Amino acid sequence: MNLRDATRPLTASSNKKDAPLASMFVARHTCPVCGAADCEQIYRCSYQDDPVKSLVSSNYAEQGVVDWSLLADAEFEVHHCPRCDLIYQSNVPGDALLEEIYTRMISSEALEQYERSLLTLDNFQRISGEFATIFHHMNKPIHAIRVLDYGMGMGRWARVARGMGAEVYATEIGDDKYTLGRALGIKMLEDEEVDGNTFDLVHTEQVCEHLVHPGRDFARLAKTLAPGGLFKVAVPYRGNLESILRAGKLSDRALFATAGARDIPGDAEASGAIQPLEHLNAYSAKTIDWLARDNGLEIVAQVRRRSVAIDTDSIKGMASGVKRLGVELTKAAIRLRIGYYLLRKPR
Ligand SMILES: [Zn+2]
Repeated sequence: MNLRDATRPLTASSNKKDAPLASMFVARHTCPVCGAADCEQIYRCSYQDDPVKSLVSSNYAEQGVVDWSLLADAEFEVHHCPRCDLIYQSNVPGDALLEEIYTRMISSEALEQYERSLLTLDNFQRISGEFATIFHHMNKPIHAIRVLDYGMGMGRWARVARGMGAEVYATEIGDDKYTLGRALGIKMLEDEEVDGNTFDLVHTEQVCEHLVHPGRDFARLAKTLAPGGLFKVAVPYRGNLESILRAGKLSDRALFATAGARDIPGDAEASGAIQPLEHLNAYSAKTIDWLARDNGLEIVAQVRRRSVAIDTDSIKGMASGVKRLGVELTKAAIRLRIGYYLLRKPR
């Protein structure tokens, strides 16, 4: 799943040329996770003013073009929910603006180039190692494991699960991704076709932060879990985002404009959890706990675990494999600053 390419209720029915600017955004008046109505506004800035203007400019500078007229009069507003602890953008892009974001502001050429750069041997080993650890817990022959990759992007994760032998289903927006998914042996579903299905693993990698209706969609996905089934939620790490926003210290530099979170750790990384126009929801562990309880699930892990491949072709290969193993064991032993949750439906 790609950060810039999540499943969302996008339709092509709106005509942005004829639509008044006000309709570019849709207001979320209540908490989109728990429905609470007494949420507090903790940040507000016009899209025409800094730091939001610079943040948006830097995010799309190398990905596509920004039509600023579409953002005229728009306010970037962030609320905090006192009940489930969600931090969310209250003005979210409507269908026409979503289409603009994911076709022009992020061009398909830029997206393809970015995705291609991530199809590396190292990433394949990381992903297959994570799936291997998850599949081990399932006590089923691998061909009988049904996986849903919700919002598969360019199929970085789905293609590995398929290659390992699982039965893989996926959702995504756009004909080109459907064609790609089918060519990879993935069973592509329309969003509504997910309901009524049953899966052993529901996989969401950098998806839930993009959802316009996260509470509703989380409940839909939880319902598809088989008894004992797992639901993986990987989202940007929120850290101290709430205090950053309350202090009015939102970063003016997008994570995508840099080498990523590792390049500007700390406050900037936390700021990225609520990227204007795209990262609409920022979850804390408390929010995920609320979602788990509300949907009858239990949180079974908050660290990514994976098996490690060790090359035996040379001493050097083995040494670097052992080093990777050490890194993974360290990560498993301490709770890292990542937004990773594995939830389970009781048997
Ligand atoms: Zn809430």
